[in-house]
Amino acid sequence: MYYGFDMGGTKIEFGAFDAQHNRLIQKRVATPRDDYQALLDVIVQLTLDADAELGCQGMIGIGIPGMPDSETGALFTANVPAAMGKPLAADLERRLKRPIRIDNDANCFALSEAWDGEFRQYPSVLGIILGTGVGGGLVINGKSFTGRNYIAGEFGHLRLPVDGLEILGRDIPRVPCGCGHDGCIENYISGRGFEWVYQHFYAEPLSAKVIIERYRSGDANALEHVDRFLDLLAVCLANIFTIIDPHLVVIGGGLSNFDEMYALLPERIKPHLLSVAKVPRIEKARWGDSGGVRGAAFLNLVD
Ligand SMILES: [Zn+2]
Repeated sequence: MYYGFDMGGTKIEFGAFDAQHNRLIQKRVATPRDDYQALLDVIVQLTLDADAELGCQGMIGIGIPGMPDSETGALFTANVPAAMGKPLAADLERRLKRPIRIDNDANCFALSEAWDGEFRQYPSVLGIILGTGVGGGLVINGKSFTGRNYIAGEFGHLRLPVDGLEILGRDIPRVPCGCGHDGCIENYISGRGFEWVYQHFYAEPLSAKVIIERYRSGDANALEHVDRFLDLLAVCLANIFTIIDPHLVVIGGGLSNFDEMYALLPERIKPHLLSVAKVPRIEKARWGDSGGVRGAAFLNLVD
């Protein structure tokens, strides 16, 4: 049995999955934001309850909004203050007497998609979340590739490429990023970036939803904006593809609901790849909100 915890700033979602990846238990509890002992107690109790209900000792994976320190195991989790700096895996292993796997929640998103029944055929799967920011993860042969510091897949903090400057104009402001740098691509290609770029060119603050509605109704500004945005997204994706050369790319987050994008992107990406490279299959994420808890549980899956 595979247990997954998707730990967020306000709630912890728990799921228990069988060997066929069916979800047998689903629970959601409030995250003890400021009390580490209470946080440990919640995870321990959900685990022991599931063990009792299912008559087994499940394997545990936890997805966190952040990452563990690669040497000490101490968590960096700005949105969950209770866990900040704490060796969560070691403390839970002591209480639950079993190994605990922890990974970044965007990596869990990618892992969940990579283990989708149809997608499992692809040896390498790149997951990208175009939401408030840009997150992502890389799965190789069914395993999350974390890199040394769990930074692998943090595509949002790549620099705006030179072709991006051609598309946006050389005087495009270097937007300050939450990471402390400025000019990171997430400020231009995330859902929020989609809105920022629109406002930059047309001086009108609109939600992505409204911009897309206007695009669908043939509005000239929205058409021009989407054309420009997809060129920018294509350049950024092509850079990532040239490093990783993935077999499958899965897009999640709010902007993944812009369905026209999937047909329009490949022809825009192709010119930016090496001439021998084929554009990978690009798909919308299939597991939606349950991706985090699935991926956390699947940290323990092996072929
Ligand atoms: Zn950044």
